[in-house]
Amino acid sequence: MVKLQFLGATRQVTGSRYYLEADGARLLIDCGMFQEREFLERNWEPNTVRPRNLDRVLLTHAHIDHCGLAPKLVQEGLRSPMVTTAASADLVELVLRDSAEIQAEDVAFKQKRHRKEGRRGKYPEKPLYTLKDVERTLPLLQPAPYDRMVDLHGGIGCALHDAGHILGSAMIELSLPSNGQSRRLVFSGDIGQWGKPIIRDPSVFAEADYVVMESTYGNRLHADHGDVEAQLLDVIRQTMDQGGNLVIPIFAIERAQELIYHLSRLVRAGQLAAMPVFLDSPMAAEVTEVFRRHRECFDAEAAEMIASGRSPLGFPGLKVVRTVAESKAINRRQEPAIIMATSGMCSAGRIKHHLVHNISRPDCTILFVGYQSRGTLGRQILDGNPTVRIHGCSRLVRARVAQIHGFSGHADRAGLLRWLGHFQKPPRQLFLTHGEEEEALALAAYVRDELGWNVTVPEYQQVVELD
Ligand code: ZN
Repeated sequence: MVKLQFLGATRQVTGSRYYLEADGARLLIDCGMFQEREFLERNWEPNTVRPRNLDRVLLTHAHIDHCGLAPKLVQEGLRSPMVTTAASADLVELVLRDSAEIQAEDVAFKQKRHRKEGRRGKYPEKPLYTLKDVERTLPLLQPAPYDRMVDLHGGIGCALHDAGHILGSAMIELSLPSNGQSRRLVFSGDIGQWGKPIIRDPSVFAEADYVVMESTYGNRLHADHGDVEAQLLDVIRQTMDQGGNLVIPIFAIERAQELIYHLSRLVRAGQLAAMPVFLDSPMAAEVTEVFRRHRECFDAEAAEMIASGRSPLGFPGLKVVRTVAESKAINRRQEPAIIMATSGMCSAGRIKHHLVHNISRPDCTILFVGYQSRGTLGRQILDGNPTVRIHGCSRLVRARVAQIHGFSGHADRAGLLRWLGHFQKPPRQLFLTHGEEEEALALAAYVRDELGWNVTVPEYQQVVELD
């Protein structure tokens, strides 16, 4: 008998975690951190599964909502390997270290505030885990190649397939022995968009007995936003004509490298004059190095660029900024420049300093290329607020604010249906996870009514038996 339990990303989008028990083997697929405010306490709940008893942990990709609780599992006794792609293993290392550092800073800040106010907060004044826990986690990462079925434990086969979401991202195919037959389970992980730069397209499957699929955009279509590169060139030219700086808040993984890729193509095609471009984020710089080390994940176009001696992730003019002093020096410069810095929603990091120096200058542009959550500084700027608070001071927003859509890392409804459309016959059951309740339910209704499939939208901690 096979038992599957949904331990996260149920009718919400973070905390991906699934427990699978089959013929005595115990597996965990992903162990993501919950990030929505109302679900944060789930990060602190004791595991319903004893980590010590797990035979394997399988990781789909390096985003924190898919791998972020790994050090907590280790803290609670996990000793077995965590299987993922080689590129993901390298990215997971960066992401977990970063997460431990952020938690340590948050805790210090919280303790200080609570001491001052003489009260206690809702969550414990300690981090979920520390750098020490991360160091104990890293040796457990076990890289596996794409598209090769490997024996996991007790005759269970596992293959990782490209998910097209971020570098190293994978869909997980499991083959479970059962009474002389085998059953096939597919976990989609996060499904990327077709035709993204650098990485390959999502893999598709012709058959499976059970499928667990994400549904982030289960009820939405990405508008056709046209040619991203042409829009980027437009924004750059307009800003340079005015003699100002172009400031771009970036996400360290994937979005930063995609931008570098587009800029590199524009420079090499002679459409963009060589000019200073700063990548001001130590994390994004390290991630870019991981990209350079993992060409095996590149798509044909990026591979061809390399074969013909051009780097898809570098060009004359690109300056990678590491130290704080170098970062500060950018704002003493006179000539116009492109400044890319983290964090992507402007809630922390070096981007705030660059906003302080540029947001009140009408000749500058602030360009958004990623989703801005409600309540973040990025969202306030994007929403057109005439003033915003940065570092405790009110700032006039006089810079031009621009946005380029089309960079999303997730397939939209049409993409999800395209992925499902490759199955030659309906699986016995399709489980929809990793989507807000209304997105997941809307997609479920469509697949049930139009395709006639069995579809379930699981609840938190729901257990299903697969036979
Ligand atoms: Zn993701």
